[in-house]
Amino acid sequence: MTEIQALYQQVILDHNKNPRNFGEIDHATCSAAGHNPLCGDQINIYLTLDGDVISDIRFSGSGCAIAKSSGSIMTSILKGKTIDEAEALFGKFHHLVTADMDEEFDADDFGKLAVFAGVREFPARVKCASLAWHTLKSALEGGQIVTTE
Ligand code: ZN
Repeated sequence: MTEIQALYQQVILDHNKNPRNFGEIDHATCSAAGHNPLCGDQINIYLTLDGDVISDIRFSGSGCAIAKSSGSIMTSILKGKTIDEAEALFGKFHHLVTADMDEEFDADDFGKLAVFAGVREFPARVKCASLAWHTLKSALEGGQIVTTE
């Protein structure tokens, strides 16, 4: 493991142990439940929208370290962002976790999301890392239950 991979793993473990924005929002504008049956991850996303700005976002549920830390990091990044910005970040994240292993990323360009670059090596883990994002998308589209398969 390289130094940077070790650092990323530490960040993931920290967010898993002390998830940010963990819990429900009473009177959320929209919410959705996501389920990854391959791993058993269950993530719920709650959003408060102020126009098209995400003024608050929280998540609850249970799952593996990757799924939980992804929910924690995603909610940290998205608070205060617009829906368009959130969708653009989802596109970026999706590219990061599904790109070829030999594609180099500029970590500065990805900010906190860069910690998930290593997930590419483990295809089964891509669903864990993406669950919070797919659930967010579902919440923004009206909140049906999503299953990542
Ligand atoms: Zn998982």
